[in-house]
Amino acid sequence: MQGDDAMTHTIAFIGLGNMGGGMAANQAKAGHRVNAFDLSQAALGRAAEHGCTPAGSVAAAVKDADVVITMLPAGPHVLKVYSEQIIGAAPTSALLLDCSTIDVETARKVAGLAKDAGYAFADAPVSGGTAAADAGTLAFMVGCDETDFARVEPALAPMSRITIRAGDHGAGQAAKICNNMLLGISMIGTCEAIALAERLGLDPERFFEIATKSSGQCWSVSNYYPWPGPVPAAPSNRGYEGGFAGAMMLKDLKLAQDAAAKNGATTPLGAQAEALYALYDRLGYGGRDFSGMLQLLRGRLDDLPKA
Ligand code: NAD
Repeated sequence: MQGDDAMTHTIAFIGLGNMGGGMAANQAKAGHRVNAFDLSQAALGRAAEHGCTPAGSVAAAVKDADVVITMLPAGPHVLKVYSEQIIGAAPTSALLLDCSTIDVETARKVAGLAKDAGYAFADAPVSGGTAAADAGTLAFMVGCDETDFARVEPALAPMSRITIRAGDHGAGQAAKICNNMLLGISMIGTCEAIALAERLGLDPERFFEIATKSSGQCWSVSNYYPWPGPVPAAPSNRGYEGGFAGAMMLKDLKLAQDAAAKNGATTPLGAQAEALYALYDRLGYGGRDFSGMLQLLRGRLDDLPKA
């Protein structure tokens, strides 16, 4: 691949789940040949319906690839798939892009293995959920060698609204977990403020009007208000269905706490956020949107069906 986004490329896409399915479909829609692989036959079938060519194995998918994209559950899957199935099987001219959310250490380890074998590699996790994956409007945060970024950006373009280079290998994952730790904390703060407003007899809708124009303003208030009404597209208007699952937020908060412990960072509010989302998950609401935390803090979780 020469960094020309108008060219047709052969793309190997590994991991066609909730996120990867839509992302692979957008690569096919952009006119690229997409050789797709997933352990799930159902996921492979859906990819075929969206213009991808199902492959029988990771090795078969990556054999002739210009670009390899992975979207896998967690660090151990990424390490195993790269070390045992991609490195050595893909041509060394292929650009390797891991878009999964994983720990910084594993991202750097995989980058080192890839580099030693002669490949260009980038960690490129995403912000935005399944709707953005389907619409091709994800935000990518990239960790790669500076000289490789000119190849990375056009390769991600069919799936992205914006792509930012965060720094060297691992920096994309660092940006992702720091951003999501901040999001988890700000959502809990927003929920606590609404719960207190309610107890004080202040209408949460009126509080929205005020907070969006005051210093409490943040993304969780303005774009994702956890009380139904003021932000019609927010999951609070549909019983906290869809959106960004509490269990996914918990995964990212755990990654942040592990990274903080290993690197000597002090993140007490991140630790509190992790504990609260662990409780939300344990009570049976991990499948509901993370803004459903409001109902836990109001003591009204029982009104919400478990998911
Ligand atoms: P998912 O579980 O729906 O999809 C993962 C897919 O990987 C599954 O289809 C699974 O069969 C496949 N898989 C697992 N091991 C494999 C292997 N060895 N070879 C081939 N395929 C394999 O998960 P998802 O929601 O699509 O999330 C994927 C990644 O994106 C995760 O790291 C997640 O943290 C991150 N992420 C998710 C969201 C979201 O809203 N869902 C948002 C941002 C980032």
